[in-house]
Amino acid sequence: MILFLATHDLRMHDNPALAAALRCSEERGERLRVAWVRPDGWGGEGLYGIPRFSAGRKRFWESSWSAFAAACRSRGWEVSEGGGELFTEESGAPVAVFVSRAFSWNERVRETGWSEGCARRGVSFCAVEGHDLFAEAGLGFPLERFPETFTPFRGRVEKSGVILGEAEGGEGELGVDDEGLAGLGDGADSFPWGGSEREALERLSWYIWGSEGLRKYKETRNGLMGSAFSGKFSPWLATGALSVRRIWRETLRYEGEFGATDGTVWMRVELLWRSYFLWNARLRGAALFRRSGWNGRSASRGADGAHDAGAFLEWCEGRTGDGLVDAGMRELVAAGFMSNRVRQNAASFLIHELGCDWRAGAAFFESHLLDYEAGSNWGNWAYIAGVGSDPRPVRRFNTREQAERYDADGGYRRRWLGGACG
Ligand SMILES: Cc1cc2nc3c(=O)[nH]c(=O)nc-3n(C[C@H](O)[C@H](O)[C@H](O)COP(=O)(O)OP(=O)(O)OC[C@H]3O[C@@H](n4cnc5c(N)ncnc54)[C@H](O)[C@@H]3O)c2cc1C
Repeated sequence: MILFLATHDLRMHDNPALAAALRCSEERGERLRVAWVRPDGWGGEGLYGIPRFSAGRKRFWESSWSAFAAACRSRGWEVSEGGGELFTEESGAPVAVFVSRAFSWNERVRETGWSEGCARRGVSFCAVEGHDLFAEAGLGFPLERFPETFTPFRGRVEKSGVILGEAEGGEGELGVDDEGLAGLGDGADSFPWGGSEREALERLSWYIWGSEGLRKYKETRNGLMGSAFSGKFSPWLATGALSVRRIWRETLRYEGEFGATDGTVWMRVELLWRSYFLWNARLRGAALFRRSGWNGRSASRGADGAHDAGAFLEWCEGRTGDGLVDAGMRELVAAGFMSNRVRQNAASFLIHELGCDWRAGAAFFESHLLDYEAGSNWGNWAYIAGVGSDPRPVRRFNTREQAERYDADGGYRRRWLGGACG
C-alpha cells in the first residue's frame, strides 16, 4: 500500500505530493490510501492557555477534509483520518509514504518523526514541495542567504525564481461551471463559504473571470466589509483546498488576455508576501515564536513590557473602547475572518497602545482565523511588534485616523458594534 498523508493540501488539483503518491501506486501496482493527519495543535492549547483551534476553525478544516475525502473515495482510494500513525495493524505497513513538505516548526518536527519512523522500518518516505509558488531549489538563492526584508526577496525571486509546474491529477468532476460563478461572488459577509475545493475554485473563477475583482484589486483591497473587496483565497490556501500556483497562473492568463493592471500586478505581489513569510518560517524555525523575534530585538512595549491580562481580555472580547479594533475583534470571533487592514490595526493596538505581549495576540488570531498559517500570522505580528522583518523600527497605526479613512461612513463599525460605534 502507498500512503499519502494529507496535511495542508486537501485538494485534487495541482497537488504534487498526491500526484507523486498516485504515480508510485500505479507503477508498483499498490493500492493508494489517503490518511488525513489533523493539523498541529488540533484540540490543544497554546500560549496563555488559548485554544489553538476555535470551533469555527475546526469546522472549516473538517469541511475541506470531507470534500477532499469524498473526492478520494469516488476515485476508489481508501480514506482514513487520525493522528498520523503510519503503521497500524489494521491498515498494514505502507511500502512508501508521501507528504507535502512542511514549513513551520511544529509541522517540521512532526515530519522529521515520520521520516525517522519510516527509515527505521525501511519504508521510503518522500516529503514533496508543493505548498508554495517555489520549491526551495527554485528560489534562485540558497535559503541561508534569505534576505532580511521583503523587497530584496521579491527582487530576487522575480529575477531568478522558478515557479513550480502544475502537478498532474486535476479537478476532474470538480470542474467549475458558470452556475457556480453567481454563488461565490459579492455578499455582505467577509467569508461566508465552506472549505471545499469546489468552492475555492469557483471563488477563484468568479474573482478573476466573473467580476472586476482582480482587475480592480489594488483599488479595493483596503476594504473592510463584504466578500468582494479582496480575493478571499486565504482560508482555502491554509487547508490547501486551493493551490497558490493556480491563482498565480490564472492571474497571468488574465494578463495575457486583457493586459496587466495595477490589480493583477498587486495580487502577484501579495502572493509573494505569502511566499516570503513561508520561507521565513522555514528558516527561523522555533525562533519565529520568540517574543524578542528571531533577531533578539526589543522594539516595542508589546515585545518587552509586562503583559496585562485584563486589557488583553478586553481586546479579545472587542471591549477596548476603540471602535475599529472592537468591531474587528468581534468579526474575528464571529466569522473567523478580518480584512488585512483591520488585522493591522487590531495588532498595532494590542502591541503599542495596550502594551500586551504580541504573542498573546498572535495566539488569539491563530485560534480564530480560518486562514491561520504560522508563517504569515507570526511573521505579520512580529513585523508590527518591531521584532520581525520590517525595515521600519516600529509600525504603529493611528486607529482613529484609520477608521475615518477606511470606514468613513461607520458602516463596518455599526455592523459589528450595533449602535455603539466608537
Ligand atoms: C496581524 C496579521 C496576521 C495575519 N495572519 C495571517 C494568517 O494567519 N494567514 C494568512 O494567510 N494571512 C495572514 N495575514 C495576511 C493577510 O491579512 C491575509 O492574507 C489576507 O487578509 C487574506 O485575505 P485575502 O485572501 O482576501 O487576501 P488578498 O488581499 O486577496 O491577497 C491575496 C493573497 O495574498 C496573500 N497575502 C496578502 N497579504 C498578505 C500578507 N500581509 N502576508 C502574507 N500573505 C499575504 C494571501 O495568501 C492572500 O490570500 C495576517 C496579517 C496581519 C496584519
